[in-house]
Amino acid sequence: MVIKHKNIFETESCWSNADKQMLCLDTGGWRTERPVLDQTKCNYCGLCCLYCPPQCMLDKGDHYEANLAFCKGCGICAHECPRGALTMVPEGEFGNEG
Ligand code: SF4
Ligand code: SF4
Repeated sequence: MVIKHKNIFETESCWSNADKQMLCLDTGGWRTERPVLDQTKCNYCGLCCLYCPPQCMLDKGDHYEANLAFCKGCGICAHECPRGALTMVPEGEFGNEG
C-alpha cells in the first residue's frame, strides 16, 4: 500500500514534494481513451497512482479510480499495473456519459 503524506492536490501521489499543484489541468473533451478498472484483479498496491503523470488517481479505500476531469488517457497506469486490472477503453464506447 502507498504511504501517504499530506498532499496539496487531493490526488497527488505520495512521492511528490511539490509546493504547487502539479499538472492539475482539466482535460476537457480531448481524451481518446480512459482507464477502466476490473476491481476483482486489483490488490490496491498503488502503482497506478504512483506512475500517473498528472496524479489524478483517486484513493477509494480499497482501489484507485482515475479522476476523469484530469485523466489524460495516456495509459501509463494500465501499462504499469502488475495485475492487468486496468484496461484502456476508447471514449466512444461511453457515449455521452462524460
Ligand atoms: S489497478 Fe493495478 S496498479 Fe492500481 S492499485 Fe490496482 S493492482 Fe495496483
Ligand atoms: S490514463 Fe494516464 S492520466 Fe489517466 S489515470 Fe492513467 S496514468 Fe493517469
